[in-house]
Amino acid sequence: MKVLFIGGTGVISSECSKLCVENGIDLFLLNRGKSFRTPPAKATIINADIRDSGSTQNAVAGYKFDVVVDWIAFNEEHVKNDFELFKDKTKQYIFISSASAYQKPIPKLPITEETPLANPFWAYSRAKIDCENFLMKMHRENGFPVTIVRPSHTYDETKNPLKVDYLPFHRMKNNKPIIIQDDGNSLWTLTHTKDFAKGFVGLLGNPVTIGEAYNITSDETLTWNEIAKLLAEKAGYDLKIAHIPSEFIRQYDEEWGDGLLGDKAHSVKFDNSKIRNIVPEFNPQIKFTEGAAEIADYYVRRKMNNSVDADLDLLMDKIINDFSNKYRRKTNMKFTRVVFAVLTFLISSSLCLIAQKADVSLKKLQDGNKRFVAGKPEHQNQTKARREEVAKGQKPFAVVITCSDSRVPPEILFDQGIGDLFVIRTAGNILDNIGLGSIEYAVEHLKVPLVVVLGHERCGAVDATVKGGEAPGHIKALVSNIARAVEKARSKKGDLLENSIKQNVDNVVEQIRKSKPILEEFVHEKKIKVIGARYDLDDGAVSFFKTDSH
Ligand SMILES: [Zn+2]
Repeated sequence: MKVLFIGGTGVISSECSKLCVENGIDLFLLNRGKSFRTPPAKATIINADIRDSGSTQNAVAGYKFDVVVDWIAFNEEHVKNDFELFKDKTKQYIFISSASAYQKPIPKLPITEETPLANPFWAYSRAKIDCENFLMKMHRENGFPVTIVRPSHTYDETKNPLKVDYLPFHRMKNNKPIIIQDDGNSLWTLTHTKDFAKGFVGLLGNPVTIGEAYNITSDETLTWNEIAKLLAEKAGYDLKIAHIPSEFIRQYDEEWGDGLLGDKAHSVKFDNSKIRNIVPEFNPQIKFTEGAAEIADYYVRRKMNNSVDADLDLLMDKIINDFSNKYRRKTNMKFTRVVFAVLTFLISSSLCLIAQKADVSLKKLQDGNKRFVAGKPEHQNQTKARREEVAKGQKPFAVVITCSDSRVPPEILFDQGIGDLFVIRTAGNILDNIGLGSIEYAVEHLKVPLVVVLGHERCGAVDATVKGGEAPGHIKALVSNIARAVEKARSKKGDLLENSIKQNVDNVVEQIRKSKPILEEFVHEKKIKVIGARYDLDDGAVSFFKTDSH
C-alpha cells in the first residue's frame, strides 16, 4: 500500500509514520525537511512545500497513492488545494480534524461522531469545521474519497499538556505557581501518540471508512488539577497552582484564552466505539501516569528542549499578581490561598453570564417537570457512564430546598439524574443555619446559579402548624418556625393551608436572600437567582412563583 503523508514529522504523525513503516507500508513523506524529528529511514522523502501548489504539483507528478493524509491542513484554502492536487491521484484522502470542533458548550457526554460541530469560541476549531464541510461536500458531489479523523489532545514525551513545553517545570523548580484555568476540576482526555497510531493506521486503505468521521482518543479522563499533580510528582517538584478564570486569562492572551474557552475549559469524554468496531487492535493502554513520567523524563531528567519563553513566564506572573490584587480589593476578607481558589468564580464571571446560567437551569427544571407530568421521563444522567463521569467531581446546576415528604422527590419530579441537583430536604422545607451553610457551599464552591425553594400541596408540616395545639419533642422547632407564615396567611383571603404553604415558601426565599454574609452578597451582586415554587401532588406540576429580582 502506497501512503503519502503531507507533514508526517509532527507530534502525532511521526509515531504514525513509524508504525506505517513497521507494518510494511510504502510510506512517502512530503515536507520541507525542517522538523527536528527524524523520519523513518525506510520512508521516501518528497521535498516540497505544500503551501506552494506549483512546486508540489511538480513533485508529485507521476505518483499515484492508495492513501493521502494531510497532517497540517487547518483552513479551507489548504484542503481546497489538496482536493485539486490529489482528486485523481488517490483512493483515500484522510483529513486530520480536531475534537475541539465539537459543539461548545458540549450538549451531552460522551462525545460521539454524531455530536454536532460548532465552536463559537475558537477560530482554530471553526476553520477545521470549514475544512470538514468542504471535503464532505466534495465527497457527496464528486465522490472524493474522504475519511475524517478527530483526535483529541494527543501527546508524546515532547508535548507537555500544561502551557507550555519546559516552562511549567521551570516555574515549579523556581517555586512559582503554575496557572490552571478555573477551578481545575473539569475533565480532560489525553491520548498518547502510540495509542493513537494503532487506531489511525487501521483506517488506512479501509474502504468502509470513506465518507466517515472517527474519534481516536483514550478512555481515561483526568481533571486538570490531577494532570498538573502527576507532572509535578514525576518531575519531583512541589506543585503550587494558581486557579485563574479562563475569561481573565483571555484578557491578557487572546489565543490562550480562546483555547481554554473553546476547548480545554470544557469537560470532555469521548465514545470510541466506532473506531473500535473497525480497528479491533485499537485499545488505548497508556495511562497518563506513564505519559507524565515520559514528559518529566524528557524535560527534567534528560534536560531536552529546556529553553524558557521569558515573555510568557513574565506574563504568567502578571496574570497571577493582577488577579490576586483584584481579588483583594474586591473583598474585605483576609487573603488566603484556599479562599483564593474557591472564590475565583466570584470575580471571573460577568453578571449577565450568571443570569443566563440561572435561566438555563430554570429551563432545565421546567422541561424536566413537563416530561414528568406527561409521564415521559427520560431518566437522563442515571446511567453507569454518568455515575463514573461525576464520581470525580460534582457540578450540579440547581439547589433545591424542599419538603422531606416522600411524595416530593426532586430528582424524580424534575426528571434529573446523578450530579444534577444539590438537595436540602426538611419537613416543611424550612432552613436553619446548617441548611443555609449547605446553600452557601453550593453557590460559592460548586458555583450553582439557581436556588429553588419548593413547597407542596397539602404539606403535613404546614397543616400541623395551621391546626395548632401542643407539638411533641423536636417537632416543636418545626412548628414554631412555620408559625410565622401561618400568622401572616391568616389575614389573606382564600384557603388558609394553601396560603400558608405559599407564604412559608416566600419566607424561606426571603431568609436566603437576606442571609449574611454570603448569600445576601451573592443576591445583591445578582450572582444567584432565588425562586419559590409549588408542587401539585395531584397532577405533578411545579409552578414557579414570579420573581422581580434574582
Ligand atoms: Zn411537606
